[in-house]
Amino acid sequence: MISRRYSVPIKIGNVTIGNSAPIVVQSMTKTDTRDIKATTIQIEELADCGCELVRVAVPDQQAADAIFKIRKNSPMPIIADIHFDYRLALAAIESGIDGIRLNPGNIYDPKQITSITKAAKERQIPIRIGINAGSLPKTDKQYTQTADHMVDVAINQIKLLESLDFNLIKVSLKAFDVFTTIQAYRKMASKAPYPLHLGITEAGLPKAGSIRSAVGMGILLNEGIGDTIRVSLSTHPREEVYVAYEILKCLSLRDHGPTLVSCPGCGRSEIDIVELANSVDNELKQMKKSIKVAVMGCVVNGPGEARDADIGIACGKDRAAIFKKGVVVSRVVGEANFLSALMTEIRSLYNQI
Ligand code: SF4
Repeated sequence: MISRRYSVPIKIGNVTIGNSAPIVVQSMTKTDTRDIKATTIQIEELADCGCELVRVAVPDQQAADAIFKIRKNSPMPIIADIHFDYRLALAAIESGIDGIRLNPGNIYDPKQITSITKAAKERQIPIRIGINAGSLPKTDKQYTQTADHMVDVAINQIKLLESLDFNLIKVSLKAFDVFTTIQAYRKMASKAPYPLHLGITEAGLPKAGSIRSAVGMGILLNEGIGDTIRVSLSTHPREEVYVAYEILKCLSLRDHGPTLVSCPGCGRSEIDIVELANSVDNELKQMKKSIKVAVMGCVVNGPGEARDADIGIACGKDRAAIFKKGVVVSRVVGEANFLSALMTEIRSLYNQI
């Protein structure tokens, strides 16, 4: 079991982040925030697949104003993503935002940060100090490691906020480079007690981006570092949520929705295991409760793996055995019937959970 790093918990809306609270899954809308309808729909889609916190871009005053209506209909707390113009943070707070993300790489004037912090303090709105390796503020100090520069920027910002008696702080130190990201979070973890938001920034398209995120965040999470995560992928944000939960499930940090175990298939398999696994996966995506399903392509490892799952199928040529909690509950004849017979058993168990 992973022992989590202690952090001072904060609340963003009704969501607790830090210390022993479950690691929170976040995403970010990819709509134009000024388009209230499209943004609201995307937030609902995200909530439906388990997203717990959502960030929206606030590039101008119109977007900041739109937050008021978006927030009213949102099933989860919203964080405003602010760059360059501190007045947009003030406007977002005015519109009722639940949290603010500031980038010290482009908002660094202490007077401006003080003004945001005072407004956030008044409404008890947390601020994420969102460091990004690609937009660090200029400095005369020579750094050999980007991670050291990232951590120094975060520490300076933390000191400023603490001097204003503000401690509703969360920190992120994202880079595309996995080693830089890991190094930065490790250093930060021992320097300040605030919750850490993990991410590999601009991770890429779904395949490579999911792997990069899983490796980078997986290493940190396994060390107990990380209180909330976002997987950044160049695709619909619901995929980000799906991958985030898969990462957390692999490390037994969250239990969320069905888990599919499927064999890769090989020369022994006498059915199209890839097609069957995909069909089962599509059906499971509609389900929300935790259930472990195994789809196995032959009688060598099939029955053993299938027995470990809540429900499993071990397939042979035109015949399959379905296991429920380790016991054969049904024998199916005819490959065309495998999917429907398996889904009948899955639904029956699912309804009892
Ligand atoms: Fe091959 Fe059978 Fe293993 Fe699947 S379970 S990979 S078909 S040996």
